[in-house]
Amino acid sequence: MSAKLYVLISGYQTIAKKKLLSTAEANQKIYIPVPYFLLDLGSDKILIDTGISENSNSAGALSDNSSVAEDGNPIKALHKIGIEQKDIKYIIHTHLHFDHAANTKYFPNSEVIVQLSELRAAFSDDPLIKHGYVEDDIRYSSIKWQPITSMRSLFGNRVFILPTLGHTPGHQSLLIRLKNYGNVIIAGDAAPLKDNIEKNIAPGVASNPDEAFYSIKSLKEFAYFENAQIWYGHDPEFFKNVNLSPEYYD
Ligand SMILES: [Zn+2]
Repeated sequence: MSAKLYVLISGYQTIAKKKLLSTAEANQKIYIPVPYFLLDLGSDKILIDTGISENSNSAGALSDNSSVAEDGNPIKALHKIGIEQKDIKYIIHTHLHFDHAANTKYFPNSEVIVQLSELRAAFSDDPLIKHGYVEDDIRYSSIKWQPITSMRSLFGNRVFILPTLGHTPGHQSLLIRLKNYGNVIIAGDAAPLKDNIEKNIAPGVASNPDEAFYSIKSLKEFAYFENAQIWYGHDPEFFKNVNLSPEYYD
């Protein structure tokens, strides 16, 4: 079957815009969606990130004016489109910040693909490196981590993983090949907003600001080379115009 890409919204947060765009004014706030994605390749069903959680410890990390959406429970959200938790063979994480990984623990049957450097950062003892991760969400022996290093072509070259380090030590973006819609790059927090790409500005939250800046350049080069559309991580205007699950892109 041809690939189907579903967009789900786990919730919303109001945060300092500077966290997403390093040049924003210190007092500027932005209301952002927190998405995750399902890629249905027929026999292989893959979650891309798992969002913030309805009742997980990550709730403590949420800012004021945050809310968990109806699809914040991925098991219920997937059930609505006829997919059960056990059907999810893989989870691919852009990174392990709490708003991207809170529900991973609910998928003990899935292999969880993440950069090795990201895993190390998430479980680091260094409080500076650990910022943004909620270890209680991801320290489950049932999670089947499948660490990778660098780039990877997966599922018959229908998914390509491009490391886009800098927001976190092991951030990665994904290129997905869709037959009708064309190529999509899930940028994640390497480019949370359209302005990161259009104006070459790194996110303010960055474990390595230089790397974060060069990852934006890489994303643009990659998008040009692959004739792909970049889907920004949390851009409110962008997600206003996206077709959400149960609709999909194929
Ligand atoms: Zn992040």
